[in-house]
Amino acid sequence: MDKLDIEAVRRKLVEEREVLLGRSIPPVEAARGDEADLAATAQAKEQSLWLANDQKQRLAQIDQALARIAAGRYGTCDVCGKPIAPERMEAVPHATMCIECQAKSERKRK
Ligand SMILES: [Zn+2]
Repeated sequence: MDKLDIEAVRRKLVEEREVLLGRSIPPVEAARGDEADLAATAQAKEQSLWLANDQKQRLAQIDQALARIAAGRYGTCDVCGKPIAPERMEAVPHATMCIECQAKSERKRK
């Protein structure tokens, strides 16, 4: 079975984090009074807000994954303590539960 290459994962996460932090959101230009301009500005504002939220969420996931790597808990299920399948960690790098526990907790929520 393939072992999860945590160092490679960590490098990838750090890289992605840098890209996210370096990618600044272009400032929304002030409206100039024109109706069409106002609408365009509102739309651009909404778009950059959405982008900011998305980036924040991504960053939080990356930070969480990095913290788990630092704590030596990366790739280990928070619920049952068993190792999470490497394929799952590759598909969902910020996963904190194995597929069985994830399925159970989703069933419980419903
Ligand atoms: Zn589990």
